[in-house]
Amino acid sequence: MENGADMKIDMSPAKGLFMGEFRDSRLFPFPKISAAERETLSMVIESIDRFMAGKDAQFRSFDENGAQTAEYLEELKALGLFSLIIPAEHEGLGLSNSGYSRVLQQTSRYDGSTSLTIGAHSSIGMKALLLFGTDGQKARYLPRLASGELIAAFCLTESGSGSDAASVKTYATKNADGSWSLTGEKIWITNGGTAGFFTVFAKTESDGGRMTAFIVERDWQGVSSGPKEDKMGIRASCTTTVRFDSVKVPADCVLGEEGKGFKVAMAVLNNGRTGLGGGCVGAMKRLIELSIAQAIQRKQFGKSISEFQLIKEKIALMTTLCFASESIVAFVGSLIDAGVEDFSVEAAMSKVFVSESLWTVADEALQIAGGNGFMKEFPYERVVRDCRINRIFEGTNEILRLYVGLSGMKDSGEALKDIARGIGGIFNDPIKGFGMLTSYATKKLSQVTPIGRGSLWRVSPLLKQEALVLEQGTARLSQAVEAALRKHGKGIIGEQLVTKRIADSAIDLFVGMCLLARVSDIASSSGGECSDELSIARIYMQLARNRVSANLKGLVRNSDRDVIRLSDSMCSRGAYPWDVL
Ligand SMILES: Cc1cc2nc3c(=O)[nH]c(=O)nc-3n(C[C@H](O)[C@H](O)[C@H](O)COP(=O)(O)OP(=O)(O)OC[C@H]3O[C@@H](n4cnc5c(N)ncnc54)[C@H](O)[C@@H]3O)c2cc1C
Repeated sequence: MENGADMKIDMSPAKGLFMGEFRDSRLFPFPKISAAERETLSMVIESIDRFMAGKDAQFRSFDENGAQTAEYLEELKALGLFSLIIPAEHEGLGLSNSGYSRVLQQTSRYDGSTSLTIGAHSSIGMKALLLFGTDGQKARYLPRLASGELIAAFCLTESGSGSDAASVKTYATKNADGSWSLTGEKIWITNGGTAGFFTVFAKTESDGGRMTAFIVERDWQGVSSGPKEDKMGIRASCTTTVRFDSVKVPADCVLGEEGKGFKVAMAVLNNGRTGLGGGCVGAMKRLIELSIAQAIQRKQFGKSISEFQLIKEKIALMTTLCFASESIVAFVGSLIDAGVEDFSVEAAMSKVFVSESLWTVADEALQIAGGNGFMKEFPYERVVRDCRINRIFEGTNEILRLYVGLSGMKDSGEALKDIARGIGGIFNDPIKGFGMLTSYATKKLSQVTPIGRGSLWRVSPLLKQEALVLEQGTARLSQAVEAALRKHGKGIIGEQLVTKRIADSAIDLFVGMCLLARVSDIASSSGGECSDELSIARIYMQLARNRVSANLKGLVRNSDRDVIRLSDSMCSRGAYPWDVL
């Protein structure tokens, strides 16, 4: 550990970028899954391959029918896929967050609906029990959840409460005996029709209308679920409404503290993001394999289409996005496994980057397949339909971008306040004071970085240029954050277009940081024999440089006023008013 780096080890590395700081202690060497767990994972992955390979026709028929069969669900249970993250003492496999994410990679290579069925159970359905449950609650439910006797579902969303999760109307009133009466309706609940165990969020009167999380069992009187929703994608997964009519919930079924349900919900969603991330990476890997085979085999103009530069560009981009996604998902998993508390910004960044990378990869894979890509006979159109949901659920990408931008800037705002206190009037002078955040970061950075060796001195010398891009981009980001905070002050909350540009820049830079750390590791263990990984790093950093530059320039020169005016005008007109007639 270098000077002072240990003090910073658990400070959010992603938030550091907003202040121009590289908190990279946990990135070098790039974290790896432990040898013992790798052995277990190899066995699980092998059994998934044995079970799921060759079932493409079955997955297509599940998709057409909009349901998995009961027998298939039983097979998933027998395979142990509902026990992945349940500790061994409760009859589970006890995988780490990283190991679990790797398993979902494997199932997603074959079928998105299967991943969602097991992912909704583990990532969100029973996660609150794992994170906040009492010993008694865990002993009562976890063994049955591990065997799949109980499938779990997470019940937060309602017809009037989606992104604004705190506004749920489902409510629970306390009875004289300490039990609760729970009433309300949840919508779009994954595993809603098959679950026996529900984590339900409801307003409770005892604490002034704040949310509380409850365990509810299907067998209790008043619990019912609606018909399966007819969806665009992940059609075989079971999405339904779940109703609670004066359901009597025992006193010992509160998860976490009364009135702290919002915190519970957010902790679950943050912790679960590597499941979704692993799933997206697995789907990308399969699409890349399919696209390579298609590009080599398909001949046009007397050549394999893989020989055309426009197809090469797609394959290189797909590979780069997948590698970058895998890097950030692996890093977020390692933070969670290490018990780091402040990882929510990194997790939100990974969800946005990875879900959008998969969308691009799926679209490009379909394009490489040409007309075949559009036919149901081939897997591409199903993957495109299946992967669209990733940008919507578990927090929409818009909400997560705002979260990333505002959380990152919050720390910078605090730092600016500190500087302001220290230097008095200078900070208020727009000219003299400008750049204080960057110089503050530089000063702090010099405490942990050997002066003169560059901030990212742990990056492989083979990636010197790319490290420079990261350093310059990060310095520019911290200046842009400072300028935005100066300009908008507290009003930054309402400046979504500014926040989005800052968030997107930070996401591109943070993904770059993860990727460079991983490639540096590979470079050192391979003695520099890693030309593909070096190409990936160069391609990614070039993309990131262009995007960061465009986003940060856009903070100064943009058409935001017209964008907002036009949208308002269109909303008041109610329809597109022009025609060529
Ligand atoms: C297939 C499927 C499975 C699901 N599974 C579950 C589940 O198991 N459990 C569960 O609880 N929920 C589940 N959901 C619900 C899902 O989490 C919500 O759909 C999601 O949170 C978005 O809420 P909404 O659909 O109401 O969209 P809204 O919140 O109405 O948002 C609509 C649009 O407005 C944007 N928007 C909203 N607020 C803002 C803002 N402040 N600033 C800028 N833009 C904004 C959004 O980003 C989005 O683009 C599922 C949904 C689907 C479709």
